[in-house]
Amino acid sequence: MPQSKVASKQAASKKATSKKSAAKPSAKQKSPAKKTQKKTMRRRISTETVEQIFARFAEAQPEPKGELEHSNVYTLLVAVVLSAQATDAGVNRATEDLFAIADTPEKMVALGEDTVRDYIKTIGLYRNKAKNVIALSQELIDKYDSAVPADRDILETLPGVGRKTANVVMNVWFGEPTMAVDTHVFRIANRLGLAPGKTPLEVEAKLLKVVPPQYGVPSHHWLILHGRYICTARKPACPRCIIRDLCIFPDKTPDPDNA
Ligand code: SF4
Repeated sequence: MPQSKVASKQAASKKATSKKSAAKPSAKQKSPAKKTQKKTMRRRISTETVEQIFARFAEAQPEPKGELEHSNVYTLLVAVVLSAQATDAGVNRATEDLFAIADTPEKMVALGEDTVRDYIKTIGLYRNKAKNVIALSQELIDKYDSAVPADRDILETLPGVGRKTANVVMNVWFGEPTMAVDTHVFRIANRLGLAPGKTPLEVEAKLLKVVPPQYGVPSHHWLILHGRYICTARKPACPRCIIRDLCIFPDKTPDPDNA
């Protein structure tokens, strides 16, 4: 074979090899964060530990409450719809004036989409949310005699209402032991090995199985509040965490006094 052909064949084979390794990173190339995540996602804790975790939450906060302001089940539903990708504090600031003049589906529809949009324009995705609030209010009037149905499947058919929103309403207002899996609950369930899962639905199903029945209703609040204020995404407050000794997360924030 002529020299030039050999050289080009060697170059082609080199290229193929480097393409292969780029497409499939070796174990060495995987980031430590990913490895840690995988390690914790595989691990599950014992039933006794789960019991202990929720017993501690119950002792520290016997009656946990959600932080979205509402005066009835309708304003709760609207507040939860508005809270997607927004903070509860931001939603409360926007709804304070809105709910003062529109706390029923009829009053909301009478305000109209443009006015609702003006009231909530400080919240992310406000255009779409204003549209959904009017549409869901109209649907409540037309199909449910202006009442909010105590049925998760029906709630999920309303405009702007997903499974998480329906679960929150069923739990907070109707006292059902549902588990709304938001970003905080999802993170904690995996970090603690409470209910490791790749999707919110998987985590929800596992949590419903492992949470002791006596903690069924408040457990969702405890997990959300723990994730929001203590076990935060970037720098969990491990030194002041009440379940630190029960936690299997390998990358705990060190105690500054012992560092
Ligand atoms: S010890 Fe740290 S990582 Fe574990 S639950 Fe508490 S805050 Fe979260």
